[in-house]
Amino acid sequence: MRSIVKEKEDRGISLITSEIPEPSQDEVLIKVKIAGICGTDLHIYEWDEWSQKRIKTPLIIGHEFVGEICQVGKNCKGLTVGQRVSAEGHITCGRCKYCKTGFGHVCKDVEIIGVDRNGCFAEYITVPADNVWPVHDSIPDEYAALFDPLGNAMHTVMAQDVSSKTVLITGAGSIGLFAIPIALINGASKVIVIEPSQYKKDIALKLGADAVFDPWEGDLKEKIIDLTDGLGPDVLLEMSGNKSAINLGLEVLSNGGNASFLGIPAGDILVNFADSIIFKGITIHGITGRRIFETWYQCDQFLQKHGSDIDPVITHVLDMDEVEKGFIMMEKQEAVKVLLRIG
Ligand SMILES: [Zn+2]
Ligand SMILES: [Zn+2]
Repeated sequence: MRSIVKEKEDRGISLITSEIPEPSQDEVLIKVKIAGICGTDLHIYEWDEWSQKRIKTPLIIGHEFVGEICQVGKNCKGLTVGQRVSAEGHITCGRCKYCKTGFGHVCKDVEIIGVDRNGCFAEYITVPADNVWPVHDSIPDEYAALFDPLGNAMHTVMAQDVSSKTVLITGAGSIGLFAIPIALINGASKVIVIEPSQYKKDIALKLGADAVFDPWEGDLKEKIIDLTDGLGPDVLLEMSGNKSAINLGLEVLSNGGNASFLGIPAGDILVNFADSIIFKGITIHGITGRRIFETWYQCDQFLQKHGSDIDPVITHVLDMDEVEKGFIMMEKQEAVKVLLRIG
């Protein structure tokens, strides 16, 4: 099968032919139709510090996809050949306290598709049956391939009550952008976005953001305070991992406000705990992955009713052999969500 593989411990990616994997008794074999390129894949392509520590080559990368089941292991109940599916990319242990109490997304014994085991940038992938998500007939492939990153955004927004609240989103990559329609549909009264890229700011406006700002814009704090009745936003959705954005977000957040933190900072960050958190009485919620499978049900409903709302985020659909072009466009901030036609 054709597969996109991280072969060398260096920048780059290879398109090679490899063996079709054999599913175990508890796995299904899926013929991949469409896959999405994630920021994580770009890190692996660039071979950054994180990938150098985490990735064991050779590895088929990719974890966002939709496809069709073509073989079912004998212990997999309720799944059939021909079924259109996506999959939760975090394979949890299923036995620990977290897994058993609905907190599988913070299981310590997690294996990630396309990071710790072969991923979906290939014509076929094996996935444990427990991770498979059957896709509703009304959801087109292009949206169904995006359950994973849409789920990150959904988890970040739904950790808060945004109904009739003002929301500040710091960082408008694909997940920050997905969060805009999700927050609006859930009743946010105003969505303000801070993002340096003009390309992404334009998309944020198309998605319905009420205001978008450059991080370096003059009087930025005052402008945000003015837009939120002089009190600051009720909810902060931090998607950038950038230390200035994190500090600005916490500083302008309303007293008693709530924050979801998804963006991963590159190192330790200095925060004024007393003034930015304690005396303001704010609540911070760390977000990782998706609630398994609560977030998937939420995304399923969102995509059935509002799928086309995310169209502006899907900026490119490329053939599998154009994957490198996709990475380079993402690096240059000339693309947001790039989909690959696999089969
Ligand atoms: Zn991802
Ligand atoms: Zn576990």
